Amino acid sequence: MEATLTVSSHFSAAHRLALPELSQAENDQIYGKCARIHGHGHNYHLEVSVSGEMDSRTGMIVDLVALQQAIADRVLEPFDHTFLNKDIPYFAEVVPTAENIALYIVERLREPIQSLGVELEKVKLIESPNNACEIYCRQPAVRMNLPVLPQAAMA
Ligand SMILES: [Zn+2]
Repeated sequence: MEATLTVSSHFSAAHRLALPELSQAENDQIYGKCARIHGHGHNYHLEVSVSGEMDSRTGMIVDLVALQQAIADRVLEPFDHTFLNKDIPYFAEVVPTAENIALYIVERLREPIQSLGVELEKVKLIESPNNACEIYCRQPAVRMNLPVLPQAAMA
């Protein structure tokens, strides 16, 4: 019997949405207030869903503590209380929209979660009461390779 388990967590971080090759006026047009020069913060809520076979003895699909630890190690600790554009090398080059942050979290978590014996099913990043991004990780389109630059800096 397969089941899906979701764990929730949160981190606080600042970001600024702007394409470096564009003028401030052009960025204002695309990103609105989110392009303001000194950035702004969010309390991000993160929901990570994993799928796997239920163990008939334990009634669990995964070691919950190990799953929470993987999310803490790979996402919460490196992201919390940062200015994403400046502190995470990946977001020096990729605009840290909710979509791009969620996609990056998928790439950070996929392997550690596989090593726990389950599959990453979905990442939902809730940026504010007004918006959230969901990535369904088992869709082929999501199995893409992001630039590899951040691994060393974030390990
Ligand atoms: Zn924002």
